[in-house]
Amino acid sequence: MTRSISILGATGSIGASTLDLIRHNRESWRVEALTANCSAVELAQLAREFGAKIAIVGDQTYLSDLRDALAGSGIEAAGGNKALCEAAARPVDMTVAAIVGCAGLAPTMAAVERGGTIALANKEALVSAGDILKSASECADTVLLPTDSEHNAIFQCLAGNDITNVRRIVLTASGGPFRTLDAEALKSVTREQALKHPNWEMGAKITVDSATMMNKGLEFIEAHHLFPIGLENIEIIVHPQSIVHSMVEYRDRSVLAQLGPSDMRVPIASCLAYPDRMETRLKPLDLAAIGQLTFQAPNEELFPATRICREAIEAGGAAPAILNAANEIAVEAFLDGQIRFTRITAVVEHTLARYSAAAPSTLEDVLAIDGEARICARDALESSALV
Ligand code: NDP
Repeated sequence: MTRSISILGATGSIGASTLDLIRHNRESWRVEALTANCSAVELAQLAREFGAKIAIVGDQTYLSDLRDALAGSGIEAAGGNKALCEAAARPVDMTVAAIVGCAGLAPTMAAVERGGTIALANKEALVSAGDILKSASECADTVLLPTDSEHNAIFQCLAGNDITNVRRIVLTASGGPFRTLDAEALKSVTREQALKHPNWEMGAKITVDSATMMNKGLEFIEAHHLFPIGLENIEIIVHPQSIVHSMVEYRDRSVLAQLGPSDMRVPIASCLAYPDRMETRLKPLDLAAIGQLTFQAPNEELFPATRICREAIEAGGAAPAILNAANEIAVEAFLDGQIRFTRITAVVEHTLARYSAAAPSTLEDVLAIDGEARICARDALESSALV
């Protein structure tokens, strides 16, 4: 049976992994919409290869490039945020929400409100607007399939079990490239070092988030929204090999874990085929070659991001949206060479301390908070107190 699919963020790392799976299962999928922000030529190539009906660039200034690159193909082209949301609302069997950052929130929300099945990779949308997205999803009877490898692992470990029997969720973290450094060495790490993740190949923002451990903090908040078992029952453990993708402990102390290669095509395939399974061309896991799986407690003194995220979700209201916006600004500034690595979390804490807002109840509220928090975080970038 052929199913229809739209991919929001098709030119990114998750987009590429999804399209790779589709490329080898062409008969199973019909591509409706593919989106990017500014990679117009790459998007047009993908749209042509997969016979998409429409291609959309978020940044309107790239629309003419997209039109030129699609000339003669019969594929519709569109640009701007409104067009992204309209494309996301087109009826399809499956939407892959893989835009990076809060920029993905409005299109993801449009897909959620339309209903159907969403493979949700865009964790920032859930962090900034978790309650709003979840209630929209309940209203529209949308199926949200967690695509992040940890949450997908938990989802798989929960299958066939009642969540009320869960005692604990254990999120695994690789610890990133700087896991073994001390505070002094951490101050002078470079952009290039931060962009070299030991186990995963991902987009720049999530790779830096992994290095600060902010990614794990965001995932803590994501897990809280997807699997409501109480914040005190969600734990983080460092597992440098990234083979155990997360675990669920039940009341009887039985612990279920999901293992697999460190390749996002595994969790994405599990979403694409859900509730069935599909073939992938990945090498099987060779545990004898890996030899050892190790675990250790996270070091929150050196990597405070998980503590900051826990405090933000405990505070609730606008705090997670402020945290997410500040982190996006700080990561961008680090990647632009404006601030050093250790200032990323300092900027986030500073913004959370300086700016507060009433709890958001609509998408528009979240976007307004996001905008204000960005302004405040940009001010924090200038602050000489944050060294
Ligand atoms: P990438 O940076 O590789 O790709 C991001 C995609 O979003 C690109 O298609 C990009 O388009 C598009 N995009 C960026 N900014 C905007 C914008 N303002 N408006 C519209 N589209 C935009 O990111 P990843 O694929 O790494 O990550 C995507 C999401 O998935 C993130 O939320 C991340 O946390 C999550 N995730 C990623 C994992 C991974 O392995 N990569 C693992 C688990 C979760 P363009 O190319 O034009 O810039």
